[in-house]
Amino acid sequence: MILKKDFNVNLAQFGIDIPLGERMDIILDHLTSNYSDNIYYPNDFQNLRLTKDDVLLAHTNIYVEELLGDNIDRIMRNCYELDLHGDKEPRLDFRPLRDLILREAYYTYQGMKLAIQHGFCYFLGGGMHHAMSFSGRGFCLINDIVIGAKKLMREHLIKKVWVIDVDAHKGDGTSEICYQDSNFFTLSIHMQYAWPLCGKNPGDPEMIPSNIDIPVGLNEERNYLAKLSAGLNKLEKEGLPKPELAIVVDGADPYEEDELPGTSGLKLTKTQMLARDQMIYRFLQSNHIPMLFVMGGGYGKKAGQIYIQFLDWLLKQRSCE
Ligand SMILES: [Zn+2]
Repeated sequence: MILKKDFNVNLAQFGIDIPLGERMDIILDHLTSNYSDNIYYPNDFQNLRLTKDDVLLAHTNIYVEELLGDNIDRIMRNCYELDLHGDKEPRLDFRPLRDLILREAYYTYQGMKLAIQHGFCYFLGGGMHHAMSFSGRGFCLINDIVIGAKKLMREHLIKKVWVIDVDAHKGDGTSEICYQDSNFFTLSIHMQYAWPLCGKNPGDPEMIPSNIDIPVGLNEERNYLAKLSAGLNKLEKEGLPKPELAIVVDGADPYEEDELPGTSGLKLTKTQMLARDQMIYRFLQSNHIPMLFVMGGGYGKKAGQIYIQFLDWLLKQRSCE
């Protein structure tokens, strides 16, 4: 089951220059030309978005007050690194962008519900894993992963969640928010010597450990799949209670052709990327754990191909199950 948004987030319109938009056009073109419309879940929750109470499930009161207020220039510029890029454009009204992100995060939550009902859902969006309890950052305004899961816990639909984060960057916001929350178990496999970890001290929020962290050093690509497999086996063998849901942050940015300069510390081939995704899917499937995949990072035109190859395989796979 594939869930797609009924809107586009056009970052360029807000002066944000991140090569994140093209992948969606490529994926939707491919799916439209190769499959009938019924591969998508019918979208019956237009105009719904997260409420303040929902956002407070993962974020501090101070941050949420500012985020939902009218003066959000500072936090939006910080989150999308506008000042860091020397952008001195006149003030833009970022509130429409904020509202779209709140709607996107609502879809992540809906994707989780669909995953619980149907065993599997791929949401074409989401994965804002850098948002910390006290701040948005790294192009992630709010942590849709934690908010959605905690909302489902509040509704007594689930008790335990695993977050399996295979984006090139560490899921540092998720680990910071979920640290010491025994309802979450987090695994992150990521570049060892890159943002957000580079130059940080052990006490910095970025360094708060996931339950399982798997750093991948430079030129260690050949060990990547074995390291991931060992991490997944740990989930199985550590005597953890089985969760009612697993969320996979399925970033395409470990791909060797990714266009964001900050992802050059990990260069997996297209074949390795498919093997990665298949490994996670099979692992969760064999453990009978419902799963939601969200997209995470993945930059430039070629990122689309990484999602497409997995979606093609999945759609074939699931039609045979
Ligand atoms: Zn990333």
